[in-house]
Amino acid sequence: MIVAIVGRPNVGKSTLFNRLTESKQAIVDETSGVTRDRLYGKSDWSGKEFSVIDTGGYIRNSDDIFEEEIRKQVKIAIDEANLILFVVDVTSGITDLDESVAQMLRKANKDVVLVVNKVDNNQRILDSHVFYKFGLGEPLCISSINGSGTGELLDKIVTFIKDDKAEDELDIPKYTVVGRPNVGKSSLINALIGEDRNIVTPISGTTRDSIYTRYNKFDHDFYLVDTAGIRKKGKVTENLEFYSVLRSIRSLEKADVCLLLIDATQGMESQDLNIIKLIQKNKKGLVILVNKWDLIEKETNTSKDYTKTIQDKIAPFVDVPIIFTSVINKQRIHKVLEEAKNVYENRIRRITTAKLNEVMQEAIAAYPPPSVKGKFVKIKYVTQLNTFYPSFAFFCNLPQYVKEPYKRYLENKLRDHFNFTGTPIQIYMRKK
Ligand code: GDP
Ligand code: GDP
Repeated sequence: MIVAIVGRPNVGKSTLFNRLTESKQAIVDETSGVTRDRLYGKSDWSGKEFSVIDTGGYIRNSDDIFEEEIRKQVKIAIDEANLILFVVDVTSGITDLDESVAQMLRKANKDVVLVVNKVDNNQRILDSHVFYKFGLGEPLCISSINGSGTGELLDKIVTFIKDDKAEDELDIPKYTVVGRPNVGKSSLINALIGEDRNIVTPISGTTRDSIYTRYNKFDHDFYLVDTAGIRKKGKVTENLEFYSVLRSIRSLEKADVCLLLIDATQGMESQDLNIIKLIQKNKKGLVILVNKWDLIEKETNTSKDYTKTIQDKIAPFVDVPIIFTSVINKQRIHKVLEEAKNVYENRIRRITTAKLNEVMQEAIAAYPPPSVKGKFVKIKYVTQLNTFYPSFAFFCNLPQYVKEPYKRYLENKLRDHFNFTGTPIQIYMRKK
């Protein structure tokens, strides 16, 4: 489920985002409109997980386009998110811009929670009553700064989470195609399923907002997850970064493996890297397709050099298949499916505790964790946890002393010995 935080600048959207995702991801600034880069996070509450997106950070700072920009964001949030948190500021009451957002939300057929922020004390609860006027239900009073009311808000949010597994859904891998506009996503999907209608069997979505198309031929059997929009064209919103990001999140949430297309003529750009971060954050498998490879002059660009350039950009997560495709010429599409299948298998791979300890104890002995303040970290044993992606717990005496570089060493060793290509790995240090 995707929860979008909307509202005009300075009402406290990013502060709330931090609360919900318990991070310092969004940069809070007194002067509104500061470009903030991390606007997407995962949150869980009483065992239920959801995505949170702070729309505010996507607004570029220019006063005259402000209102129009905000309306655009709200429109996209209405189209793409599952739940909208409409944030207003109790200290400023209702402004014209609030009113205009409220009007859009009233018209939309969408779940909305009206959040009155900056209710730092009980006195301000009385002031929150003006917001009933919006006709968006009961205002929920919170203080993002001191945290009061956020527990109630989280309780409320998780009531909107639906289990949308369809009855006839098969237990087969789910792939999704992601990437910036114009990289060739629809061409790839069409190449796979467009022409051969016989293999297309969309299962009836109940509450689901993605379409699953089963592909079952040439020794492959999987669902392509489509957010009903990849093939829909000609929207003005198509090129907005925010829109692409939301789209990507939506399609990858349901998938096991993401097929990320980049345009060979443009290379790996910051937006592509952002999508990779989303994929990692969601612990999904990844295959990178360098598409439109037919347009590249092979004398000056080799796939080897190109691979190296990409790996430098995506480091440290470099253990990822990179395939050079020409979707319109149907080049290497079969290879893509092979790799996607491998990645799927790597992501569900289970290693026995005996085998794990055999190789990892040797790696640890060869290069033990550095001592901290004269204390030595002793790693006793390692075991794989029962999660839907590879995660490992290393039991030791002083888990807090094991830092990122050493964890990366452990991860690299795991990757050296076992095939986890294309899948994120999580390493936990636990107290014995
Ligand atoms: P955004 O532009 O909507 O993302 O708003 P920010 O999260 O950047 O917050 C704008 C300002 O309001 C910052 O100075 C925050 O510290 C402040 N703020 C946010 N939440 C609260 C709150 O609950 N109480 C008070 N008093 N101030 C808040
Ligand atoms: P999407 O926006 O990511 O779905 O991209 P499309 O599939 O609509 O493709 C955008 C444009 O790139 C179209 O004109 C395609 O014909 C073209 N295109 C897609 N794949 C390739 C390819 O492998 N090589 C070349 N030269 N053009 C391609």
